[in-house]
Amino acid sequence: EPELIVIGGGLAGSEAAWQAAQRGVRVALYEMRPRRFTPAHTTPWLAEIICSNSLGSDERENASGLLKAELRRLGSLLMACADRTAVPAGKALAVDRELFARCVTEHIERHPLITVIREEVTEIPDRPCIIASGPLTSDALAAAIQRLTGQEYLYFYDAISPIVAADSIDMSICFRGSRYGRGQDPEGDYLNCPMTKEEYEAFVEALIQAETIELRDFEKEDPRFFEACLPIEVLARRGRDALAYGPLRPTGLIDPRTGRMPYAVVQLRRDNRAGTMYSMVGFQTNLKWPEQRRVFRMIPGLQNAEFLRYGQMHRNTYINAPALLEPTMQFRGRPDLFFAGQITGAEGYVGNIATGLVAGVNAARLLRGKPPLVFPVTTMIGALCDYLARADPRDFQPMKANFGLLPPLERPVRDKRARALAYARRALSDLERFWTESGEAEHAVLPPS
Ligand code: FAD
Repeated sequence: EPELIVIGGGLAGSEAAWQAAQRGVRVALYEMRPRRFTPAHTTPWLAEIICSNSLGSDERENASGLLKAELRRLGSLLMACADRTAVPAGKALAVDRELFARCVTEHIERHPLITVIREEVTEIPDRPCIIASGPLTSDALAAAIQRLTGQEYLYFYDAISPIVAADSIDMSICFRGSRYGRGQDPEGDYLNCPMTKEEYEAFVEALIQAETIELRDFEKEDPRFFEACLPIEVLARRGRDALAYGPLRPTGLIDPRTGRMPYAVVQLRRDNRAGTMYSMVGFQTNLKWPEQRRVFRMIPGLQNAEFLRYGQMHRNTYINAPALLEPTMQFRGRPDLFFAGQITGAEGYVGNIATGLVAGVNAARLLRGKPPLVFPVTTMIGALCDYLARADPRDFQPMKANFGLLPPLERPVRDKRARALAYARRALSDLERFWTESGEAEHAVLPPS
């Protein structure tokens, strides 16, 4: 009899199953492949990487690199397999995708406490369980999740707008304030980037000409895709004034420097409590990332913008985590049910592995009568879980690891690289103390190669 069921043998589910089993828990890991494939997976291996073979930067002054360092310290199986199957990729960690997936599969299948069952799960089990069925969760399971969460809390598409680092916005050009002065906190909920007619026209022209990414066939064919939200460049093509009457309308916004309403306004909405991140309102887009950087930097006030997240739109099954999850990855109101991976709104391979680790460790603790762990918010893993549990549920969009999620440093550091290193030092030292005190460090034994 398994004590814990894990649904989905992808990046998150494999890590979760391993962590729970390493803590003495008998795990049944359900994976529907190869009986049934998602539209993107093509092999029977666990932890199949479906797109780029790069797991991102491996340097500590990069948010994804810091998360990797944390995961190594926490004894992540998938990081160990990635390190063992790495291919040269400069400062990034890239893997041989087949060797990586085989490495994970072999370790999981050989674990004496894990049984891999190749079946699709169509109902949420009535016992301790981790749901890690990913961005392409099967339809039957998605329907079951929808019954659990309510229809309004399960999404099938991303419509993500870019996020800009607050300290890279030029405040000598932007001004604070909400439309008609409504709903304003003393600091102003919105930053407004005013545009003249000439600036607006040049921007629209660049947007229309910019290069976009190719959608996957299964995305193009699905009518639900464009119901979600129109990409900004598609809207721009509908006519010169479409944006000025749409998301860039200036009504109710007076630029205090001119005393007049600008021709058009790009609004930025505060995205976290610390006020370090601002998202671009209505800017969901399929522009290629370098094109987003080039074209969106034409917006007055954003000429030096640092993009913490780029916009994107793709097929993605995910729940409204801040309405439903604790930072322990537990479902509110049902402590023995956990979510992990992309379905929580965590973006990127390494963020998916991280949430899998948290869910696996905490499911094991729950089964052994110990309180689940909340990782410190000064660590990247803790900050990501905190964001998922506590972001604004009214406008929740998936998020990947980035320094904007961390609480500001006690003493501000101006230089960008020095600041990143200070974040990393604080994160790793806080993690070390937390992990040692938690009593979990003894389980972080790396598997033999
Ligand atoms: P997955 O790795 O997808 O694992 C979920 C597993 O659950 C799958 O093996 C699936 O077969 C199984 N499953 C689903 N439903 C059931 C069920 N009912 N019963 C049993 N098993 C089930 N991220 C990046 O960082 N870089 C990229 O380049 C990138 N490209 C992507 C391209 C596409 C087309 C998509 C859809 C996503 C992409 N992502 C990318 C996101 C990427 O998928 C995730 O980062 C990562 O794979 C998610 O991990 P996961 O464990 O949550 O889901």
